[in-house]
Parts: sequence; C-alpha cells; structure tokens
Amino acid sequence: MSRSIVPDLASSEIWFLTGSQGLYGEETLAQVASQSQEIAAALGAATDIPVTIVWKPVLTDSESIRRMALEANAADGVIGVIAWMHTFSPAKMWITGLDLLRKPLLHLHTQANVELPWATIDMDFMNLNQAAHGDREFGYIQTRLGVARKTVVGHVSNPQVTARIGTWTRAAAGWAATHELKLARFGDNMRFVAVTEGDKTEAELQFGVQVNTWGVGDLVAAVDAASESDIDALVAEYAELYEVASELLPGAEKHDSLRYGARIELGLRSFLEAGGFSAFTTSFEDLGGLRQLPGLAVQRLMADGYGFGAEGDWKTAVLVRAAKVMGAGLPGGASLMEDYTYDLTPGQELILGAHMLEVCPSLTTSKPRLEVHPLGIGGREDPVRLVFDADAGPAVVVALSDMRDRFRLVANVVEVVDLPHPLPQLPVARAVWRPEPDFATSAAAWLTAGAAHHTVMSTALGLEVFEDFAEIAKNELVVIDKNTNLRDFARELRWNQAYYRLAQRL
Ligand code: MN
Repeated sequence: MSRSIVPDLASSEIWFLTGSQGLYGEETLAQVASQSQEIAAALGAATDIPVTIVWKPVLTDSESIRRMALEANAADGVIGVIAWMHTFSPAKMWITGLDLLRKPLLHLHTQANVELPWATIDMDFMNLNQAAHGDREFGYIQTRLGVARKTVVGHVSNPQVTARIGTWTRAAAGWAATHELKLARFGDNMRFVAVTEGDKTEAELQFGVQVNTWGVGDLVAAVDAASESDIDALVAEYAELYEVASELLPGAEKHDSLRYGARIELGLRSFLEAGGFSAFTTSFEDLGGLRQLPGLAVQRLMADGYGFGAEGDWKTAVLVRAAKVMGAGLPGGASLMEDYTYDLTPGQELILGAHMLEVCPSLTTSKPRLEVHPLGIGGREDPVRLVFDADAGPAVVVALSDMRDRFRLVANVVEVVDLPHPLPQLPVARAVWRPEPDFATSAAAWLTAGAAHHTVMSTALGLEVFEDFAEIAKNELVVIDKNTNLRDFARELRWNQAYYRLAQRL
C-alpha cells in the first residue's frame, strides 16, 4: 500500500504570461493571443514538463501586469510563472508587477514560428513576430531590477527547450515544498559537531522551512501506543517487500527486534502525520525510551518522500525533502548520504558512502535485505535495517552549510558505480561513486568550500534542477563538475564571499 507524501506535480500550476501593448490594435493582439495559446498548449503537452501550464490573457498595460502578479502571489496552487514577450511590451509597464512578484519566474525567449517565411515575409509579419527585441527589452528590466529568473531560449518544439523548462518547474515545486515544510527535530544536533548546526530562523526566511523541536518522549509515547495488530500487518508487509533475515522471521530468536522496528515505524509515522511534518531528524545521543536507533523506519519513511537528517542535521533533511518533491515521478531516488571512506588506488579512486543505518532504498531497484546487527554507537539494542547496494548511474550530491551570514549549497556531479568487490561484512546500505572531475579535485574543492559530510544524493535529478533552485532562492551554489579546476574554484569562493555580503539587505 502506498503511503507516499510526494505530491503529484500535475496538481501544481505554472501561469503562462504573454507581454504586448495596445499599440498594435485588436487584430494583431488577437493573433498574439492565439499564438501564445498555442505555445502554452505545446508546453502543457510536453511530457518532460510535469506541471499544469495555464495560459493567461495577453498583458498590455501596467495595471493588468500588477494585478496578475498579485493574483499569482495569492494563489497557493501557482508555483511559478513563465513570461514571453511575443511583441514589444515596453518594459516600464512591468516594473511594478515584477517588483511585487514573489513566485519563481522563467523568461522564455521564443517565437511562434521556427523558420522565417523568406518568400512572403512583409512588415505585418515583422510587426507580429518581434520577440527578438521584445524579449531584450524585458531582459533589460529584469536585470535592472535584479529579478531572479531562468532564461530559456528556443522554439517550444525543441526537446531541449521543454526539458530545461521542465527542470525549472521541478525546482519551482521544490521551492513550494520547502515553503510548506514543517520539520520535526527529535533531539538536538550531535554534541560538539559544527557543520550540522545552523540558523533556523534565517532558514525560515531563506527557504520558508519551519524547523522546530519536539520532545523525544512524545515520540516514544507514540511508538509505545502502536497496536500489536498493526505491527503484525507491517511485519507481513516487510516479508513481502524484503529478503528478511531468517533470525528475524516469526518464531526465530530475533523476531522481537523486527517487531520493535515495526513499532518505531508506526509510532514515527503517526507522529509525523498528526503534526503535518514532511521531514524530521533524529539523534542517537537522545533516544529517550526508544530501544533501538530508528533505522528501518527512517529508511522506509524516506522512501515515502519524507526528508531526513541524522544527528539532528535538519539542513540535510530539508535538502532530502526538496529532492523528493523535485524528483517526483522520475526513475531513481534521493537519500541522506555520508562520505564515509575511500579506495585510494591511484587513478581509480572511489568514495564509499553510507550511514550508520539510514540510507533510502529509493536508490536501488534490487530487493533490499532486512537484517539486524549490533551498532557500536548509542548503547541501545541491535537495530533492524535495510541493506542494499545503490544502483550504478549518474547522480549528484548536494550539501548545505551555514556560513554565518548566509547558506552555501555545494553540489558535486558523480557517477555511482557497481561495487568492484562484494561487501559481505558491511551491514549497512551503501553507494560507491566516482566524483567529477576527479577524486583529488573534487575532495579538495569540497573541503575548500566548507561543504558538509552529510549530503542529499539524488539519482533522479541532475545538477540543473539544483542550479534552478538556488537561483529561485537567490542562494549561493558552487558546483564541482567536469569543468572544475581548483584555482578558479577558490577564486569563485572568494568572489562569492564578497558578492553575497554586498547583495544582502542590511
Ligand atoms: Mn552522520
């Protein structure tokens, strides 16, 4: 049975706005309207655009543009707007509207036709199809006002154009999701750890996320309240979905550990559902009356779309939740990940990522094994957990650090590889990857940027959606990919330090 809390992106709207002016007369404006409806319909029909595109009447004056911005702001189901200047729309008309607009903006620089009608082109055609300069006027005012946006260029019949728009709609959905996000922390950050700390008040202003603490005792009460019959049903579900270790099966010596794992899942899920939470953190140093560190339960909740960070790491939990929403409907998954240990064989360096327990099974298409093993940390009973290898393929790892005066996102493009050797003694889920551009450059850049050891790993999303998300958020993002070299990277960090301080309000 599906308990997914990943939204259906088709229920979110992107409004398609067309700019023009009254000067052209009724006949031309009617053509502008019908052609812009065709463009909007083409976007709506594109399979790589997961949201609903809603065409809006052509905008020809300051007042209608102002009203449209206010209506978009006020409509909860609207996660962004696309603007296109079919003709010339004098951009002073857009100043007030753009200044008021609080939803993500994409500037589509396109035109109705692909080819020029060379043999028949006349001044009427030129009059109607002048986005080439109409959009330049619009670009000017957006830049002058400092409006964050993505600019996409090309005809809507070009799959690269719709792919880039679709990626941005996913980032806009992620932005909407962080603004709806209530995150429950059970316990504080792991003692003495620096990078998992951060300014929760600033995070609510920056990303819209509400980060608050609930007593682990309240969670324990919910866990204790789970019924034996619900535990029976969940244990039966585990037996269908996973290769359950024989010692955990009904009647076997450690079956009680599995039942307690199911009890944690039931209690945690009911607590999160009752509070409307879509992300959470735990802390192995603050488990109260919990007999096991939550492993299986956390893995399964992540697979259902919940954000999660271990050791009180709420910043990574926000990223995991955003990645779950942005990747809705795509193959692959997203998980908390931790850079754990390396294979430093020269020229074949690999990163082995895992966590104590909590890696999301959305990273594998194989059937996970459900096992129980001792955990040398936390001093509790042996926790149950899912064990699997992440599927090979392209991925991205993204970390969020608090740099005192701002948040910094760092992304590394990586390739998850098949395990070069089996790991028969390692009792946790894991991923093994090769980072771009190479191991030494990637790790040095990561360390230079002050990026965290916890990340979200997404195998569903590429780099571009995180770039779009950062642009929408006006948040720093530094990228480590095939084009990275350390000298330029260090310079970018230094420039960014100055830029983001200057760009801040007082
Ligand atoms: Mn950790």
